[in-house]
Amino acid sequence: MLQEQALLLGVELVILDEAGSPAKQINQNDKHVAGSFKDADKIRELARRCDVLTVEIEHVDTQVLEEIATKGVEVDGKMKKVPVHPSWDTIRLIQDKYLQKEHFSKAGLPVAPQMALETHDVSTLDKVAEAYGFPFMLKARKGSYDGRGNFKVNGTEDYAEAVKFMEGLSIYAEKFLPFQKELAVMVVRTEDDEGNLKDVYPYPAVETLHVDSICTQVVYPPAVPDETYQKARSLASKVIQTLKGRGVYAVEMFLLQDGELVINEVAPRPHNSGHYTMEALPAMSQFRAQLCAILDIFPAATKLQPRVSGAVMLNILGGANPDSHDKLVNMTHQDHDDGVDVFLHLYGKASKPSRKIGHITLTSYSPATDLMAAVQPFADEVSNLRQ
Ligand code: ADP
Ligand code: MG
Repeated sequence: MLQEQALLLGVELVILDEAGSPAKQINQNDKHVAGSFKDADKIRELARRCDVLTVEIEHVDTQVLEEIATKGVEVDGKMKKVPVHPSWDTIRLIQDKYLQKEHFSKAGLPVAPQMALETHDVSTLDKVAEAYGFPFMLKARKGSYDGRGNFKVNGTEDYAEAVKFMEGLSIYAEKFLPFQKELAVMVVRTEDDEGNLKDVYPYPAVETLHVDSICTQVVYPPAVPDETYQKARSLASKVIQTLKGRGVYAVEMFLLQDGELVINEVAPRPHNSGHYTMEALPAMSQFRAQLCAILDIFPAATKLQPRVSGAVMLNILGGANPDSHDKLVNMTHQDHDDGVDVFLHLYGKASKPSRKIGHITLTSYSPATDLMAAVQPFADEVSNLRQ
């Protein structure tokens, strides 16, 4: 999706990933590096071939990114420094969810009460229960995504399983927040060459819906009062002002029963809560914004104004069989006459159960259109896939 925009901007992308990976399938050139994005030597090789480095997953080796950005990488006996966006120290901070939220809390921004856990026994769980009550969350500090790495402790009956879950992991505990809704805002951050903030640009706020901690639906506009909508965008902007590095960031938030907003976590990259921008803001999708920001060509006067009245994004998750999602894909090709457009995106990834292998966005152009009615059969089929 980044490559589609790179073509329009005349920017050459060089990819480090396994040979034939999806990003390389639509971007044939002889500069790609084949290998693991966890291999430091391969990352150095990539840096030799590039003017700027970025990541589309945060679970990367930040030591080697720091080395490349500060000391450089050897090319023909000389050291070449390659800027990394977002900054390697932002990626490092975000990798540790506990430290990430300590950072936001120190900046005066609202996060759920949390505590790092040094020991992983029943008495530690008792201490958490005493502080936060039941239920509470146990979360792996590093390496988690799509709910993997989270464990909800509902009561002492879950202790044995909780102790097993924590084994070998660096863990923190978090107060469970019975939210009304989850909201998310993508934010573009621009900087000058010295790393000084130029500006932040929040996209519209969206509601994100999760099933088993995996995001299944993203809805624009979210059904919240305008005041909450604007507060979410302004909080997200403040969050991103505290970080370093150019690019687009996703800010996930909880909207509590009393209308307060709490930051859940940040992703330092394009994110599924921003996929709707491809149709809703086609002139500046999150992928175009990512390239414009990291190359410092993001037009300062950009208004991130949607061109649709509503948009809903549904993730296509792999089902039990490699072809389980065929019916869902076929539904997107069917004729209909309800004022809604349906856009299919498949990523060229092998299907595995619960893996995000594509998404569908439905858009409407008038508030009179019943977008949610058009979404329903697709949402039903998405949930059938999970059974
Ligand atoms: P991931 O890195 O997998 O996205 P998150 O920490 O964002 O992990 O958690 C995934 C989902 O689990 C959240 O979007 C939310 O639905 C639920 N969740 C996480 N933390 C809490 C919490 N403290 N209170 C209530 N629900 C939570
Ligand atoms: Mg999350």
